[in-house]
Amino acid sequence: MEHKDEHRREPVVGSVAGTGRRRLICGFGAVALGVGLAAADPVGPGGGTGRAGADGKHGDHSPGGGEGRDRGASGAPGRPAEPGTVAGRDGGEDPEVRADGARAADQRARVRFTTPEAALRELAAGNRRWRTGREQHPGEGAAVRRSLVAGQHPFAVVLGCVDSRVPPELVFDQGLGDLLTVRSAGEVLDEAVLGSIVYGVLELEAPLVVVLGHQGCGAVAAAVRADGDTRGLPAHVRYLAEQIRPAIDHGLTGQARLDAAVTAHVRRVRARLVAEPDLAPRVAAGRLAVIGARYELTSQRVVRIDGPTF
Ligand SMILES: [Zn+2]
Repeated sequence: MEHKDEHRREPVVGSVAGTGRRRLICGFGAVALGVGLAAADPVGPGGGTGRAGADGKHGDHSPGGGEGRDRGASGAPGRPAEPGTVAGRDGGEDPEVRADGARAADQRARVRFTTPEAALRELAAGNRRWRTGREQHPGEGAAVRRSLVAGQHPFAVVLGCVDSRVPPELVFDQGLGDLLTVRSAGEVLDEAVLGSIVYGVLELEAPLVVVLGHQGCGAVAAAVRADGDTRGLPAHVRYLAEQIRPAIDHGLTGQARLDAAVTAHVRRVRARLVAEPDLAPRVAAGRLAVIGARYELTSQRVVRIDGPTF
């Protein structure tokens, strides 16, 4: 995933300082959690301390607490594991060995993906695998499914369109427990969408929100075609068109107008999220990044269009 500011592309990673101890008071059941977060974020095997410890209870609504993701245990024979993860297999191995491997992989995963920059780096790597035909389909095996019974620790929230050609888990090559995906036609916001995003950030502690538009978006196209006269649209589709309408540039025509509206709409949605009172303090503290991006159907590449440059 690369940064694109109009015609400019920049690297997607850099440095973002972490934070110290933080306290979460969440509107979902008034859950209050104290979670330690390492100030530094060394990436890779053995680096940093991540959010282990108190995090064992984090996001866990099932009895018994437990582990989060095991990205290495894909369960597919011959499938390459990511560097720094454990290549588990689903059958035949000693359960205790498997459990140890799952725990080790989970610890490394937490170290890697607890900051905005680490989360973005993983999404960029996943999209690179996707568009080059080297998908790993991580986090689908039986061991991962078992580990996720006890809780979840998604490292990013992706707000995307409902378009069947742009499923976030596929275009970012992520698995179970990795992404909290929220999808609405044209990634339009409403109270349910906003509440879902806030849930992922405040209760599940995801450090990154990606607003993901895409080339050839039908919802945006409908809004552009209607251009304010939504009488011909089904009642509930009117809402979508009206929400997208402010992104239309009347100085453009045809395909250029549609394509610009996709990008402008993502920018508007991102700006709204950054300003949300539930999210703004985390953004200001560097604990949360909200970026805009778009998926290109032709290249299968996710390109950043707005947000902080790390
Ligand atoms: Zn769409």
